[in-house]
Amino acid sequence: MKEIVCKLLVIGAGPGGYVCAIRAGQLGIDTVIVEESKPGGTCLNVGCIPSKALIHAAEEFAVVRRMAAGRSPIGIRVADAAIDLAKTIGWKDGIVGRLTSGVSTLLHKANVKIVHGRAVFRDGKTVEVETETGAQIIRADTVVIATGSEPVDLASLPFGGRVISSTEALSLKDLPEKLVVVGGGYIGLELGTAFAKMGSEVTVVEALPQILPQYDADLVRPVLRKLGELGIRVLTSAKAKGLSGDGNALFVEAADSQEQQLPADRILVTVGRKPKTTGSGLEELDLDRSGPYLRIDERCRTSMRGIYAIGDVTGEPMLAHRAMAQGEMVAEIVAGRKRAWDKRCIPAVCFTDPEIVTAGLSPGEARAQGYEIRVGQFPFSANGRAMTMHSDEGFVRVVARADSNLVLGLQAVGAGVSELSATFAHAMEMGARLEDIAGTIHAHPTRSEAIQEAALKALGHALHT
Ligand code: FAD
Ligand code: NAD
Repeated sequence: MKEIVCKLLVIGAGPGGYVCAIRAGQLGIDTVIVEESKPGGTCLNVGCIPSKALIHAAEEFAVVRRMAAGRSPIGIRVADAAIDLAKTIGWKDGIVGRLTSGVSTLLHKANVKIVHGRAVFRDGKTVEVETETGAQIIRADTVVIATGSEPVDLASLPFGGRVISSTEALSLKDLPEKLVVVGGGYIGLELGTAFAKMGSEVTVVEALPQILPQYDADLVRPVLRKLGELGIRVLTSAKAKGLSGDGNALFVEAADSQEQQLPADRILVTVGRKPKTTGSGLEELDLDRSGPYLRIDERCRTSMRGIYAIGDVTGEPMLAHRAMAQGEMVAEIVAGRKRAWDKRCIPAVCFTDPEIVTAGLSPGEARAQGYEIRVGQFPFSANGRAMTMHSDEGFVRVVARADSNLVLGLQAVGAGVSELSATFAHAMEMGARLEDIAGTIHAHPTRSEAIQEAALKALGHALHT
């Protein structure tokens, strides 16, 4: 059996693992990365990137459809609108291909050795990989587990046939006429909205009383309104019970405890993701857990010396940029640098229509933590740029300590607000006070002016409302 001995072994080449390996390679650490599927992980292959490509295509199509129907508010007319889903999917696959081959190139450039196959632990420092050319043993001083996550299924609705996860939804050959989405969280609403814009009749079934339960009602309201405009039916406090006998419909227990039957060509189950901790011998290592996730400390160390864990396998928030930040930090720790997790916030974006972006604490969270706060909220309906783009729904909100004006959180809902996430995170990381934001010149006309206005409003002297 072939054997490789290295300083650092990274298992999984998703955003966590590949960033860790690249940084380690740059720092001169002799690094091997093992990937059983394609480099780029969930994010590049079946997650962030393909979903955003589909969301963009669907929005472009929806705009053209409105024009073709003579409903363009800005006076543009076109004769006809059609979408060729196979071509759209081909375009999306092209982007995925470019990015995943880019990851391989970056790994090679950083002198990281890539081994293709599934890594199975033999002991804490040794894995065996079944490669195309035979079994390979890899021994390392340090191991980073970056095995990611996979979709959760429901006992009453196992994946297969009409019941699909986000992975299949991102590569459908035909547009489902009737799509039922079970789970009104990130994936269900991002993809449900995209399919509705492409022409599917969409129903969302959410178990809790509110869709996107991680966000406060003010942020969710514009999204809910748009779902209604798109004809998406939303059933909250509803439970999916299982398929009808012929498999053509989903039985649902609605909020009033009445059973409803929802006809469906496809049922997209998006009720969360679970850490990938089986199939790689991890069970044998008996690492400490935090619920189903691997327990880590502020340096991403697990309970076993020399074994680190990063990304989705370590729990919420399961976001690509968190995984990447952990990966970069762990590489530097392995290189001997003094690092620990010291981030003030992990911004989050939900790519619904309109988009939601959050960084730090919401007003409710700040109060729950005992802060006395000032809140400033500025609507896009008073922002010139938003009006010129014919999308003036939503607002920017800033939350600050009442005693010092230190910014505790920033949130926004509106078209394109994902791009405000960096400004929000900068303000948080640099310990901005309301006066810092209010005193910064924000270019005109841009949506970002709403951030300055929200800060001014919290200080009691907004200019444009
Ligand atoms: P993963 O990306 O899951 O990568 C883990 C890798 O490890 C995989 O390639 C897997 O094949 C490999 N692996 C597992 N076990 C082994 C083994 N034993 N041997 C070898 N290889 C192994 N996040 C955002 O921040 N923004 C978004 O817009 C966003 N959109 C999303 C949309 C969808 C539809 C989905 C499903 C997810 C989305 N996410 C988004 C979440 C994001 O994809 C994850 O947070 C991110 O991919 C986690 O990175 P990771 O490196 O921890 O794991
Ligand atoms: P989620 O946690 O965002 O949403 C799951 C939803 O399903 C929740 O609203 C929950 O109440 C509901 N639910 C749970 N069980 C149910 C049941 N039996 N019937 C009906 N509803 C039920 O999970 P997700 O949408 O699957 O996404 C998984 C993870 O992927 C997210 O937590 C997020 O970290 C990541 N993600 C991020 C983005 C982004 O950053 N834009 C996009 C997609 C996914």
